[in-house]
Amino acid sequence: MATRTSASLTLFSFKGIPVRVHWSFLLLVVYVLFTGLSAGMAMPLLVQQLLYVCAVFCCVVLHEFGHALTALRYGVKTRSITLLPIGGVASLERIPEEPRQELLVTVAGPLVNLAIAAVVSVPFILLGHTVFVEETIVGGAGVVALARFLIVVNIGLFFFNLVPAFPMDGGRILRSILALRMDRVRATRIAGTVGKVFAGLFVLAAFGRGNPMLALIGVFIFFGATAEMHMVATQRVLRGARARDVMRTRFWSMPHDATVQQAAADLLAVGDHAVVVLRNGLFDRVVDRATIIQAMQQGDPGRHLDTLAATVPDAVPPDAEANSIQEKLARGLWPLMPVIENGRLIGVLEQDNLAEYVELNQAAPERAILHIGSNPPAQQL
Ligand SMILES: [Zn+2]
Repeated sequence: MATRTSASLTLFSFKGIPVRVHWSFLLLVVYVLFTGLSAGMAMPLLVQQLLYVCAVFCCVVLHEFGHALTALRYGVKTRSITLLPIGGVASLERIPEEPRQELLVTVAGPLVNLAIAAVVSVPFILLGHTVFVEETIVGGAGVVALARFLIVVNIGLFFFNLVPAFPMDGGRILRSILALRMDRVRATRIAGTVGKVFAGLFVLAAFGRGNPMLALIGVFIFFGATAEMHMVATQRVLRGARARDVMRTRFWSMPHDATVQQAAADLLAVGDHAVVVLRNGLFDRVVDRATIIQAMQQGDPGRHLDTLAATVPDAVPPDAEANSIQEKLARGLWPLMPVIENGRLIGVLEQDNLAEYVELNQAAPERAILHIGSNPPAQQL
């Protein structure tokens, strides 16, 4: 099954954190080459432009490691750092919910840029150079031009990231400061709304200045803000809920020696995304609908289900936390996860189910406490 990492190429790893470059990064290279060529730039100048782009992204990687290594101090691992045309993304396993920790993890990124600017500035100024000159900063040759470029770019990155456009760093800082005084869900809603306003301003500015990167950043912020507002609200509803509260107790299952033909007949009768294959009544594996349809198309109606391509998801005990299950399902590795009690399969967990549980409990928050634990186990049905 495709994972989110398949669209990226791993460059290197540091402290167990792989640094990846997303395929869309090529678009930036093409954009730089295209604008350079259409402005009539000579080849050496074009190569220099690309080297400058590389220098910017080296600073971006260091910025992301600022977040990742600070998070590690609080026991939060980082799955990867990915470079996109609009910048970098550090995929932390979770954002610390403690506002002070989130604040420090967030501030660490921009501070890295400020530190780079300071470190380069000291010898630069001591040697009698001036940082801000009137000529265009990109395209200068030599160490002095590169140093000047690094100082200006890192000061720029520092201030740009502090714009309070959630989920950019500035927006996260705003959220964590708000969360020091109010509920995290409310703090996220406010920061997210401010973020969406900035997203709109970025898109407008992009049209005004003819800068497509700014429009991309605006779109990225808008969808990022929407997704995080949703995620924080979901986490809040699921907090305290257990697997047994959110599991589906009526689900599609078949014995391991059932045939593809039998499964295909069932497939039309049930709406489940996948069939749970049982061996001697115990959970064995999961086969999705597409695999059964494919086997039928290949003229294999007599094949047993346990010979088809399948996934074997992690089993979950009934008292596992719903929030950690949601995180695992959101990674999209499995269509469902089995809930197993004393060796017996008592239910399945799916993203749809969790989403519906959240919707039901958001619609009637005062009923949330009643709802938890009221989902009857299969044997009582
Ligand atoms: Zn950052």
